[in-house]
Amino acid sequence: MSQNNKRPMRGRFAPTPSGELHIGNAWAALLSWLQVRSSSGIFVLRMEDIDTQRSRPHLARQILDDLYWLGLDWDEGPDVGGPFGPYTQSECLEYYMEALNQLGGMGCLYPCFCSRADLMAAARAPHGLSSEGPAYPGTCRNLTAEEAARKSLDKQPSLRFKVPHEIISFQDGVAGLQVFDAAAGGDFIVRRADGMISYQLAVVVDDHRMQITDILRGADLLDSVPRQLMLYKALGMEAPSFAHVPLFMGPDGKRLAKRHGGTSLAAIRETGTAPERLLGWLMWVAGLIGKPEPLSAYDCIPLFQMDKLPAMPIIITDEILSRLHG
Ligand code: GLU
Repeated sequence: MSQNNKRPMRGRFAPTPSGELHIGNAWAALLSWLQVRSSSGIFVLRMEDIDTQRSRPHLARQILDDLYWLGLDWDEGPDVGGPFGPYTQSECLEYYMEALNQLGGMGCLYPCFCSRADLMAAARAPHGLSSEGPAYPGTCRNLTAEEAARKSLDKQPSLRFKVPHEIISFQDGVAGLQVFDAAAGGDFIVRRADGMISYQLAVVVDDHRMQITDILRGADLLDSVPRQLMLYKALGMEAPSFAHVPLFMGPDGKRLAKRHGGTSLAAIRETGTAPERLLGWLMWVAGLIGKPEPLSAYDCIPLFQMDKLPAMPIIITDEILSRLHG
């Protein structure tokens, strides 16, 4: 359910066009779409191409094609427009700058001049770890204004968010109650030295601007939630509800990737597998149906039950994969 019952549920899928969609992405996209469609909400597609070095325009097009092939649709997005556009991050820089200015004006940010080598050296100390790497030890946090001004003559700094010392807890719709020590991840970057806005800031600004009420995405982003909650709070914005679905793993226990072969949507399409077959298989893997049988995306809507979704990583063995190809 949406946190705020007065507003219609608004969910989104927000792919980064730096690689092809694979079945794990399709799973998260399908479940997010089902969550929204089963609540008669609005589904948004947002292209997260803020990292222009890693993003490829042809992959952005291919991702939309793959999702349409699967039978998913969206009410707002880069190709269909909508009231909260742009829906492509590279076109939203002014909104991120506004948020940076707001945070800067409130004293929530500081310039960081540490080089990669400094960070590597600091990483050897036993600090907290997260998906963003070793926690930053705070080296530049207490520079005086004069020191910072002097250093910035030689080097363009990154900007870090000052993480408060607090415990952050939230109820995840799939993973359950989560409790994080905010400081354990360290002060995080909101703008890189080369000017690029961080994922953490961009995603918060966009989800707020697009009035997203419910985020359902892969569990690789679960440990980003505390950072995002801190940004929502600092910016005076209401946070959405979160649900993180488990990742697909290969039989080697590593995240499903190219080396496991044939799991991109493009590769599956090439074998002639019908989208209904893939959807039925995804629903079966999710525990929402008893055996893999072909289903259209709209057939899946009444079958969606958030509380049935597994919370542990899903091992995709050859045996399970063979049920997809038949
Ligand atoms: N763009 C991110 C990714 O593809 C997902 C962002 C999100 O869902 O918050 O990993």
